[in-house]
Amino acid sequence: MSTLYAAQLSWPKLQALAHSGAYALLPVGSTEAHGPHLPLNVDVLIAEEVCLRVAMRLQIKNQPAVIFPAVAYGLTEFAAAFSGTVSLSAPTVEAMLTEVLTGIAKHGFTRIGVFNHHLEPAHFALVQKAAAHTRAATGVKVAVPDHRKKPTGPRLGAEFTHGGSHAGHYETSLMLATAPQWVDEEERHKLPELKVDLPARIKAGAKNFHECGGPLAYLGNPAAATAEEGHRLFEILADVSEQALLGLS
Ligand SMILES: [Zn+2]
Repeated sequence: MSTLYAAQLSWPKLQALAHSGAYALLPVGSTEAHGPHLPLNVDVLIAEEVCLRVAMRLQIKNQPAVIFPAVAYGLTEFAAAFSGTVSLSAPTVEAMLTEVLTGIAKHGFTRIGVFNHHLEPAHFALVQKAAAHTRAATGVKVAVPDHRKKPTGPRLGAEFTHGGSHAGHYETSLMLATAPQWVDEEERHKLPELKVDLPARIKAGAKNFHECGGPLAYLGNPAAATAEEGHRLFEILADVSEQALLGLS
């Protein structure tokens, strides 16, 4: 039986995959409040779905890929005040991600993709640092696609670039596409749109969702989210992620 998940393989099967030149994919998320309508593991579910879509695309091209178990905790200071959020310190996140990546590299994978969907700037910077440490320590190629940047960011919708990337139209649409059973439809339709310019608020010194104008740990417009939009977004995320991996060879 074939599987795309490392956790379901025995070590000899994983070894064979590594030696065949397979890509190793690592989903990275957080355990973090995402409004009153979404579960704590939104970022993990999004990262895992992106990995799955990328691995399936590669498989069609006869390029083997294997998805490692997700890193489900990170630095999440913006949502730290909300129940269920677990925020690790920056040195802990940097060390944990570096050791996970070097651990994967140690057994023969030479091309690794890190797919981070917890977009807090300080956390994303730690992911990039961990990738750099891994490259320096092992010589392995590590891609960290950054979908916040141009040209991808603007394709993810106006709200994405202005603050709706946290539990708003963007993430709620992705959740409706990948795990609709965990979206509380009654709650989400009660939520008024919160038009917040997140980059501007962060620049002005805001350090959490309360200070950003999101007292329920969401921003943007979750009520307007659709599964159709979520599938469109996932295909863009899979595009940029696949290209980053293929760029490694
Ligand atoms: Zn999120």
